Amino acid sequence: MRPNIEKSANRHSEEPVFSPDCEHRLKDVAEDAPSKLGVFRRAYAGGSRLAAIHAKCLECVSMSTVAIRECRSVTCPLWQVRPYQKKRH
Ligand code: SF4
Repeated sequence: MRPNIEKSANRHSEEPVFSPDCEHRLKDVAEDAPSKLGVFRRAYAGGSRLAAIHAKCLECVSMSTVAIRECRSVTCPLWQVRPYQKKRH
């Protein structure tokens, strides 16, 4: 399995270098839901299970935070831990 993140050509760079597949997906997210780009970048960089869950739920419902909150797929393994369960006031 190909890792999502590869070594940077510039070893002094702080920016992760993602695999071509992840870069392609990040480009789509930047166009379709730019406010969610950070979530996907954190998920692809690894080290954040919350970001991975968040990104997976966003993908599942075409980036709709309301749809995640109102998700009724109680058999989904992520359902108990999905983001946006509480409404912001
Ligand atoms: S919890 Fe709901 S929105 Fe999240 S992945 Fe599962 S089915 Fe999709």
